[in-house]
Amino acid sequence: MAWSNPDRGALFVVTGPSGVGKSTLIAHLMEHIPGIRFSVSATTRAPREGEQDGVHYHFLTPERFAELVGDGAFLEYAEVYGRRYGTLLDPIIDALDAGESILLDVDLQGARSVRRDYLDAVRARVGRSVDDAIFVYILPPSIAVLEERLRARGTDSDEIIAGRMAKVAYQLEGVAEYDYLVVNDDLDEAREALTSVFRAELLRRSRRQSWVDAVDAELEARRNPA
Ligand code: ADP
Ligand code: 5GP
Repeated sequence: MAWSNPDRGALFVVTGPSGVGKSTLIAHLMEHIPGIRFSVSATTRAPREGEQDGVHYHFLTPERFAELVGDGAFLEYAEVYGRRYGTLLDPIIDALDAGESILLDVDLQGARSVRRDYLDAVRARVGRSVDDAIFVYILPPSIAVLEERLRARGTDSDEIIAGRMAKVAYQLEGVAEYDYLVVNDDLDEAREALTSVFRAELLRRSRRQSWVDAVDAELEARRNPA
């Protein structure tokens, strides 16, 4: 039984302070773990150089974002670093219906909302239960290194970097609420650690009923040869 997609998809939530390397690590993960979709959030912040609408984010005006809030389109939304960000519910339902997993890159507030609302939101929409979400926190080797990375990325002004650094303590406060911690010091090691978390979770027996059934069928055939 070679590696294949699991029978049941999972919802993964990844959090970490700005500049820790979430986007870098997630890009690697998406290439190496089959059957995972990235949840494209909506945001009112401006695109950075190289970011594409609909790929990295849905870049919205504050008015359009407020409309979607009114329509109940979000599983969660929050103000992060002075802008609005939100996770759309529809793509999550689509992924789970297709037996695929979905990955959310959200801040601490978003992770808390997902923990509180996800199971009920899915049950209300599809009338069946799903497994609880898996929460992964990406830690920097130190706060000083975090600031260096934000500067080295070269996508944000000094003012934006200062604003983000001012919120680091808040984002780190929730670390104890997460299931897995990955330190992004050496990039290769962090990639390996994050990939291992996803592989192990997707190999849970509860998501692999078809493998159990295949073993049972083979045993049955050996007990009753034709
Ligand atoms: P985030 O998505 O968490 O804000 P990014 O993925 O944009 O962070 O990474 C911030 C900067 O740090 C980028 O310039 C990225 O290339 C760099 N970076 C990411 N991981 C490492 C690492 N392990 N060592 C050194 N630089 C890194
Ligand atoms: P950035 O602007 O650097 O892409 O993201 C800033 C912060 O917003 C990060 O901590 C990221 O995890 C968070 N974020 C991105 N999308 C969402 C979302 O849909 N909901 C919430 N709550 N946070 C988000």
